[in-house]
Order: sequence, then C-alpha cells, then structure tokens
Amino acid sequence: MVKLWHNERDSAFALNLCLRHRRFFYDIISLMPDTTGSSKKIMPLLFKKYPDPKIALHFSNPFELLIATILSAQCPDTRVNNVTEKLFRQYRTAEQFAALDSEKLEGEIFNINYYRSKAKAIIGCCKQLIRDYHSQVPHTMEELVTLPGTGRKTANVILGCAFGKPVIIVDTHVLRVANRLALAHSNIPVKVEQELMLQIPKDKWTSFSLALILHGRETCTARQPACGSCVLYSVCKWPEKDLNRHKTDATA
Ligand code: SF4
Repeated sequence: MVKLWHNERDSAFALNLCLRHRRFFYDIISLMPDTTGSSKKIMPLLFKKYPDPKIALHFSNPFELLIATILSAQCPDTRVNNVTEKLFRQYRTAEQFAALDSEKLEGEIFNINYYRSKAKAIIGCCKQLIRDYHSQVPHTMEELVTLPGTGRKTANVILGCAFGKPVIIVDTHVLRVANRLALAHSNIPVKVEQELMLQIPKDKWTSFSLALILHGRETCTARQPACGSCVLYSVCKWPEKDLNRHKTDATA
C-alpha cells in the first residue's frame, strides 16, 4: 500500500481537515457544472416522453395562477382545479377576493388542505396586490416573495408559467428526481435550483423542471418508483434502481 502520510499524526491531521471541511468541499463540487454530461443524456429522453410539458393547474391569467398556486401547497392539483373552476367564476379580481371575509372564502375552498390559513393568505395577498402593485401580479422574484402565501417555488411557477420567464421550479418531485438522477446533491430547494441552472440550457429551464415534475408524479414516485418501465433507467444513477426494478417486476 502506498504510504501517503509520514506518520500517524499527519494522517490524523489530514483526516480531521477533510472531515471539518467536507461540507465546504461538497458545496463547491455540487455547484460545479455537470462534467459527466448526464444532463445531456437525460434531456432528450425526458423531452421525448414530455415534448410540451405544462403545469397541471388550470388558469387563464397570472392572477388566477397565483391564487391556484397558493391553494396547491400540499394539496393535489386535481382537487385545486375542481375548486378553482367554481371559484374563478364568482371572483375574478384582487378587489373581489380582498372584499371577502375569511369565513366566506373558507367555505368556498373547504376541500383544500389547510383551507383556513390559505384563505387568510389569499385575502392578505390580494390586499397587498391592490395596495402595492395596482392590483396586478408583479413580474419579479423580489416582489412576488413579499406577498402572503408566496414563497420562492410559487414565485417561480408564476414567473415561468404565467410570464414565460426562464426559471427552475423546485417542488417535492424535482427535489427527489433530480437527486436520484444525480443532477442535484441536496435537499435544499434553492441549492437544487442552482445546480440545475448550471447544467440545463437557460431556454430549457422551465420546460425541464415541468417535465421532471410530471416524471416524478407518473413514474419516479416517492414510495415506489417504476424503475422497470422508466425511460431514464439507462442514465439514472440512483443506487437502488436495480433492486427497485426487480421489486416492480415481481409485483407486475
Ligand atoms: S430509474 Fe427509477 S429512480 Fe431512476 S429516474 Fe427512473 S424511476 Fe426514478
């Protein structure tokens, strides 16, 4: 065995140094562009399956998408669409929502998870739109995240899907699938966003993240990913994909 260190004290010092700074080295490595080119192999396969990926929420303008996205946190999109179909027929503007009292709006969105806090957020959001933004949905991340109920993910959905700006949307599906594919190496959404930005061409940011969301919903699910029938199987770096493929083969 090649002797790398002169004595035990040197090797212990080197090990300590690595352990103490592993987070730093990891951060540096995770922010480096993908040198293996795996994103180049993944993109065509994913876009072949989802040539024109779209957000599942129904909307006809940025304001409706803002309300629908606030409602969609931890709630299935199909349920949100059922509720908004009726809701947007009755209330169309920030003024109309801002004039509602909480109990009235709670009754309209009763089927949505966390309907009480979401009703409060929507009314607060609409009041702020009227007060600060001439009742219009703002176009920048900095402004959007000041609105109640609107975090970075919601802001990116609005920017990408309502205003056509290039964004990486990181929801729970993108977080999971990007890590399994080794395109990302973190559970922190903003870090995953940065990692993907370095590997995916800017004009594909929005469509790539929307395709990852669809793939995560339909195939690469949290509990039982269908690795055996996955179009990304050959390029996926998830260590459990073989085990999982046999499991899904056996249950098929
Ligand atoms: S092979 Fe399995 S883990 Fe990898 S992307 Fe496909 S479904 Fe997900």
